[in-house]
Amino acid sequence: MSTPALFTDPAAWQARCLAARREGLRLALVPTMGSLHAGHASLLREARRRADAGGRRGLAVASIFVNPTQFGPGEDLARYPRDLEGDLATCGQAGIDLVLAPGDPAQVFPPDHQSWVTVERVSQGLCGASRPGHFRGVATVVAKLLNLTRPDVAIFGEKDWQQLAVLRAMVRDLAFGVEVVGMPIVREADGLALSSRNAYLSAEERGRALALSRALFEARDAVAGGAREAAPLLARARARLEAAGARVDYVEVVDPLALTPVARAEPGAVLLLAALVGRTRLIDNLVLP
Ligand code: AMP
Repeated sequence: MSTPALFTDPAAWQARCLAARREGLRLALVPTMGSLHAGHASLLREARRRADAGGRRGLAVASIFVNPTQFGPGEDLARYPRDLEGDLATCGQAGIDLVLAPGDPAQVFPPDHQSWVTVERVSQGLCGASRPGHFRGVATVVAKLLNLTRPDVAIFGEKDWQQLAVLRAMVRDLAFGVEVVGMPIVREADGLALSSRNAYLSAEERGRALALSRALFEARDAVAGGAREAAPLLARARARLEAAGARVDYVEVVDPLALTPVARAEPGAVLLLAALVGRTRLIDNLVLP
């Protein structure tokens, strides 16, 4: 393991990535908000693998930026966990060569920033309904990171299923010319999806948060047993969350790409849920068999 080279200045980063591309190196990018866990690590290792896929050692790079434009008023921007030292170690262990971690959000969004990327339909329901402006902030920062880096491949997690759909639409619609890769959700042994926000949970809340993955697994088993009507699946999942004292934001079965609700859970449909456990908003999803 070696420590990745740290860039805090986006312009210096852009110059370094441009130089690498001019040398003909493949670039693989993992955008993150830091506080990295094993879920992120799986994306970072995939970046290493894909950067080297051309038969020559490419450049595996990651960004660590708590993007203020994707947080709404009253959300957890100020208390979002930050651990640059630990993150650099995680990146190093995964074989990441370069890390962009702007010291000041104004380096990415200076006061005269006025251009935004809006992805219309897939941003609208689910998290988009309860977090207005969230996906505009996500799409804009990822567009900027893609332009700064110009990677061959960008890697994201299926944990944020709607985010991945939004970014796939953006990359396709605006011809970014980057391959978008989605990686499976990494879970704790007991099923809880890894999330930087799990750090907010007390031990008691951590126990109740298991209702999310259990609701998904229960639905998966029901679907595997032939119960494909969405309505009863949704009702059971909701009841399971409520029994754990979680405040349900949404529970939906949707088409995997369009994210429109479906009445029957055909193979490949996705069950998505979001709920508050205490003050912590958690999301999880599962592709139905
Ligand atoms: P974040 O730092 O939370 O913005 O996440 C950065 C990337 O890591 C996003 O593409 C997430 O979808 C992905 N990610 C977060 N948690 C997980 C997980 N448990 N498994 C797989 N990918 C994840």
